[in-house]
Amino acid sequence: MLKLLIRALIKGPVTEAAPEKQDVKALADKIDGKTMAKLGRSLVVRAVDAGSCNGCELEIHALCNPLYDVERFGIHFAASPRHADLLLVTGPVARNMAEALRRTYDATPAPKFVVAMGDCAIDGGCFKGSYATLDGVDKVAPVDMRVPGCPPKPNDLLKALLALMEKTSNTA
Ligand code: SF4
Repeated sequence: MLKLLIRALIKGPVTEAAPEKQDVKALADKIDGKTMAKLGRSLVVRAVDAGSCNGCELEIHALCNPLYDVERFGIHFAASPRHADLLLVTGPVARNMAEALRRTYDATPAPKFVVAMGDCAIDGGCFKGSYATLDGVDKVAPVDMRVPGCPPKPNDLLKALLALMEKTSNTA
């Protein structure tokens, strides 16, 4: 214990530096503008854990912490897919989650978007090839945007949401 305390005092915290608040605000402001134009008021996200290790969920939670606080920019998380514009799916899609994900997708009203967050959701990631998974969200629902990383950082997620909104407003 003493060793740990001394090491902590010498080395300092092992966490990464926080992103610049202005960068976060600029990204979120842009998303807000795009979603206002595309969806009317705000972007409502339903997070779906399809077998994740929870690492990706921790980064999603970070979006709501005091540093990011994305709700102030019109990005909200909903408990029901029926209120959602976007499904944010994590995990490699465990076989026992496939039907739940399919039903969640069907229950989401159009226009709807699907974002595969993290390497697992893209192609199975470190669980790829397991008998217990389907190796990616696209085996169950069409994917509009992929955010690589294990796990992706909150800023990566904001950039992906912005890219998705820009892509869809260009094709609308
Ligand atoms: S991508 Fe990494 S952090 Fe996200 S669910 Fe898979 S193993 Fe966990």
